[in-house]
Amino acid sequence: MTAVVALGGNALGNSLSEQMAAVKITAASVADLIEDGHKVVICHGNGPQVGMIQNAFADHKRAEPGADTMPLSVCVAMSQGYIGYDLQNALREELLDRGLSVPVDTLLTQVAVDADDPAFALPTKPIGPFMTEDEAKKLAAEKNVTVAEDAGRGWRRVIASPAPKEIIEIATVKTLLDAGQVVIAAGGGGIPVTVGEGHHLKGVSAVIDKDLAAERLAEQIGGDFLIILTAVEKAAINFGKPDEIRLSEMTASKAREYIAQGHFAKGSMLPKVEAAVLFVESAPGRRALITLLEKAKDGLAGKTGTLIVP
Ligand code: ADP
Ligand code: MG
Repeated sequence: MTAVVALGGNALGNSLSEQMAAVKITAASVADLIEDGHKVVICHGNGPQVGMIQNAFADHKRAEPGADTMPLSVCVAMSQGYIGYDLQNALREELLDRGLSVPVDTLLTQVAVDADDPAFALPTKPIGPFMTEDEAKKLAAEKNVTVAEDAGRGWRRVIASPAPKEIIEIATVKTLLDAGQVVIAAGGGGIPVTVGEGHHLKGVSAVIDKDLAAERLAEQIGGDFLIILTAVEKAAINFGKPDEIRLSEMTASKAREYIAQGHFAKGSMLPKVEAAVLFVESAPGRRALITLLEKAKDGLAGKTGTLIVP
């Protein structure tokens, strides 16, 4: 079976030291699947990491005003390298410790978005350093970017989160997978690009949701299972309320009903359920699972998690 595993924030931690510790647990969870004979592609988030990279360059520019402003697309590329480095090594070590000699690669991955995606007219995702209102409005006027107040904490840039259309390096992902290798791809949702004039790919200031990017990738490689590993064991309705019901299985149509009723929070559980629905409806035989990072193997065995079926 070919599985695309999407890793959330808890798989990587919030700092350099946290990430070094977290990837060991993550590697064990993914190695369980590889040991069971599954072909695996790993996608992952990059929120804290890309924030750290961006802030570092913003500080650098403050110290040296003549320095270039580092484009977000470049920051995402850097975050793929930084996270891939730790994850690839942790997984290599875990597999070798289990007597498995499986090459692990990190693939710098670009993901095409539509230049006229409606998300560009409505940026929602806060990124980068906090500013005062005056600083933010000055930046907005000078750089043609959108700024907004972020949950009482100060002002920040907000950027668009467009839908992933196409994984540019998909042929490479397939080649490596067919060669029996484990591939880390589309990190942070992928480096967002638009296909411009001729063959030019243009990096854009946007972030692609990693669960939706993993879904596109899973479709494009002809995967069987989309496994979304996160901080909760199951998706729930009436989440956090006394009448919360944790779901062990739901059909895509039931999931659509729950989505319409607002059971899944925007920016966290909603994109996961949306990705799961898109995937199971994309071709016969496809399944999706949402569960805890540590429960991937148990989830696949039907012992826990939320299974999404057509
Ligand atoms: P990740 O970093 O893995 O993408 P997120 O924080 O974005 O994690 O999303 C997972 C979180 O979604 C859970 O930890 C939980 O707090 C939250 N959540 C929101 N709505 C629900 C729901 N209906 N059922 C379960 N979890 C939910
Ligand atoms: Mg998330």
